[in-house]
Amino acid sequence: MSAQHPSQGPGPLVDGPQDPEHDPAAAYALEPGLVARLTRRVLATTGESAEVRSPINGAPLGHVPQSSEADVVEAFARAGRAQEIWARTPLDERAAMLLRLHDLVLDRQEEILDLIVWESGKARKHAFEEPLHIALTARYYARTAHEHLDTRRRRGVVPGLTRVEVNRVPKGVVGIISPWNYPFTLALCDGLPALLAGNAVVTKPDAQTMLTALLGAELLEQAGFPRDLWQVVAGPGSSVGTAIVERADYVCFTGSTATGKLIAQGCAERLVGCSLELGGKNPLLVLRDADLEKAAEGAVRASFSNAGQLCVSTERLFVADQVYDRFVERFVARTEAMTLGATLEWGNDMGSLISQQQLDNVTAHVEDAQALGARVLTGGRARPDLAPYFFEPTVLEGVTPEMACFGHETFGPVVSLYRFHDEADAVARANEGEYGLNAAVFSQDGARAREIARRIRCGTVNVNEAYAATFASVDSPMGGMRESGMGRRQGSEGIHRYTESQSVATQRLLRFAPMLGTSDETYAKVMTANLRLMKKLGRA
Ligand code: NAD
Repeated sequence: MSAQHPSQGPGPLVDGPQDPEHDPAAAYALEPGLVARLTRRVLATTGESAEVRSPINGAPLGHVPQSSEADVVEAFARAGRAQEIWARTPLDERAAMLLRLHDLVLDRQEEILDLIVWESGKARKHAFEEPLHIALTARYYARTAHEHLDTRRRRGVVPGLTRVEVNRVPKGVVGIISPWNYPFTLALCDGLPALLAGNAVVTKPDAQTMLTALLGAELLEQAGFPRDLWQVVAGPGSSVGTAIVERADYVCFTGSTATGKLIAQGCAERLVGCSLELGGKNPLLVLRDADLEKAAEGAVRASFSNAGQLCVSTERLFVADQVYDRFVERFVARTEAMTLGATLEWGNDMGSLISQQQLDNVTAHVEDAQALGARVLTGGRARPDLAPYFFEPTVLEGVTPEMACFGHETFGPVVSLYRFHDEADAVARANEGEYGLNAAVFSQDGARAREIARRIRCGTVNVNEAYAATFASVDSPMGGMRESGMGRRQGSEGIHRYTESQSVATQRLLRFAPMLGTSDETYAKVMTANLRLMKKLGRA
């Protein structure tokens, strides 16, 4: 593994007086005024603030004002008022704003990428997936707005005499609680269909990546969305997040399974809907007919993108016995060839973990596995020489059920290799455990791979690709089975969750009661004969 050290980092981002020649830390300063400009968007009156530090070098990036429960109440009041007007704004105007957002995100890409890397420590190429995903999502929903939201005719009970139409009515104010791992896209992507459908949003991004989420809020306003329609609050999930769950008309949550269960309970109490995008222990299957070079390249991206801090990342690699040795040789070689570094510029294949807590979790999983007899084929070490929380991409062999990393999500750059003898065995082992988020199958026989995919209990399955094929195909639903979640983002499912279906039926000539002086008994006979006739005529 080669390394890019911070001292080889980029030039200054700032117009200010810093001189990186004399003060290397100065090369790692944010644009002056950026933090003050962004944090003004947080609705917070406590007078308290929380410091944000960069995982690149541990340096402070700024302070984010903290919200109280009263601030959340005020956020909902403002959002509610804005939503009443917004729901009457023509759909084409709302869609046009999404298309403007698409252009803004592409035009201001460098600024977005810089901030994502500063706050998360991820490699720039992994940060790029975020504006890319927002642009795809914005364009998709803008161009399909009428398909999802227009009032539709349905069959009436009496053909020709009962006219039925179904309206898509916005839920009202949607609460969005998002995590730190994809701080730009996960702060915004679920909100875009909510806005398009006529809702307002109150959002609480994760404390570690507030600045990136606030840049997203600024871009929404610049695209034309009224400022009050998108309220941002900040603070601990246990208080500020709970205050959102207690008030929202619908909750969209992305985060851990443990927190997701709490959110679901809170929503059940108030009988409001929620979608939960949670964790995974995602399997990748290499079948015996796979192209091994492609599979090894795909497995590296599947396992180490965003340093494994990716809900759809692979943590279990099942490889056919016949090709196991040849695959492992290629996979380990490709892992060792990765360029590691926590710097702002392009060129790193993997960046840093985000926090000490993440480093502790990953280290604990690897040490536990080693202590119980697993072999480290490559990696296995922290790299404080690169960044405070850096951990090498790590490949384990000989992992057994008593080891923590066998069934628990590591959420880091650690993958375990397993052999399988036949495909039924591989599918059964892929389906073990409580999770069911994402899977991948590598084979040169697409039809066979798709047949295997149908038997894997995951919400998305990628054939000959790691995770991006499903994630970037925004017309198709994305989400988890079992403890990996409830509901789906993307596609029609991803926008209909934010609407109530309202049926409006207009009846003419015939009423649903005896007519022309007939008795109830005669009415029942006529209706019975009618039901039999309708079935004979093949009507639905
Ligand atoms: P987390 O559940 O601790 O936090 C996620 C968000 O929930 C944060 O904004 C946090 O402040 C908030 N929160 C915490 N406790 C809360 C509570 N009691 N009430 C309301 N809000 C609360 O998750 P994390 O550990 O920060 O994120 C990593 C997890 O997220 C991983 O398990 C990962 O798999 C999952 N994830 C899933 C997806 C997906 O699309 N399925 C995407 C990204 C991350």
